Amino acid sequence: MHVTYSPEGIYLGAIGLWLDPRRSQPAAWLSHAHFDHARGSHGTAIGTPDTLEIYALRAGEAAVAHTRMQPLPYGESIECNGARLTSLPAAHILGAAQLLVEHGNERLVYTGDIKLRPPLCGAITRVEPCHHLIMECTFGLPIFHFLSKEEATARIVRFARECFDEGDTPAFLGYALGRGQEIAHVLASHGIATTIHGAISRYFPWYQRAGYGFGDWRPYQRDEAAVTGDTPRAMVTVPSFRATLQASTRRIRIAYVSGWASMDNARARTGAEELIPYSDHGGFHELLDLVQQSGVTKVDAVHGFTDTFARILAQRGVDAHAPSAFGERGSDEEAAD
Ligand SMILES: [Zn+2]
Repeated sequence: MHVTYSPEGIYLGAIGLWLDPRRSQPAAWLSHAHFDHARGSHGTAIGTPDTLEIYALRAGEAAVAHTRMQPLPYGESIECNGARLTSLPAAHILGAAQLLVEHGNERLVYTGDIKLRPPLCGAITRVEPCHHLIMECTFGLPIFHFLSKEEATARIVRFARECFDEGDTPAFLGYALGRGQEIAHVLASHGIATTIHGAISRYFPWYQRAGYGFGDWRPYQRDEAAVTGDTPRAMVTVPSFRATLQASTRRIRIAYVSGWASMDNARARTGAEELIPYSDHGGFHELLDLVQQSGVTKVDAVHGFTDTFARILAQRGVDAHAPSAFGERGSDEEAAD
């Protein structure tokens, strides 16, 4: 199937469907609810139920007032202008999905943002055999490899307990949708009370509906950094909040949980003493494994280190390209966490 790449997005002309378009379109597949994938006011929006609901919340009522929402839960299929569309888990944030497009004899998969490691919250990725893969490669360089779910959990809990033992307050920085809820859930499942920034707790209802609890938590309050003598609580907040934490008179120690935590400059950039390299994207070898497991011969690399990753795949005999409209790293840090 011919795929068109333009500054407006990825377009499957044969079936009139845009994939995570950058502007409003008549029909759009939304792989997940991060801003760089789910934006605009579309005629029809197709995605998993969690993605569509969170997209509607973030876009605002006016933006989606005339949008026909077409929920496509994991494993289910619909017909679309002569093709069959199937939604598959992608283990990125809650609701994130790959799209399998079957058209004639051809099978095409668009990954959206994806990882192969089991996620802290959400469904495990299912890799489908296909001919043509349109894949993200946010961390498509050999320097990137990330902790497993178990390793990340151990690091998060250990840092919180170490801080408590020394009378300090641990503060975890994570992006508002995805990482924040995962950290809060991990802490809660180990009996650690938390204080949560509103940009993160806003999405708790969807995670709770999917079965992920948050235990003893309360909203962050302006004077939180000055409160003492209370139950020890770990703070879970967004990276933009670090200046407030650093200005506090309370002894606050910061942990940064992100794929970027594996970069040399992460400590200086975030002010974090603890760097926990855990991402909702695949590391380099996961991305290679995804290509291999799908048995694909043709790959288009979109989002991230596309040129380099496509070149590495080409050296391994894959017909791989980096469409020029998508040759830059995402500027939205949340998207590339
Ligand atoms: Zn994303």
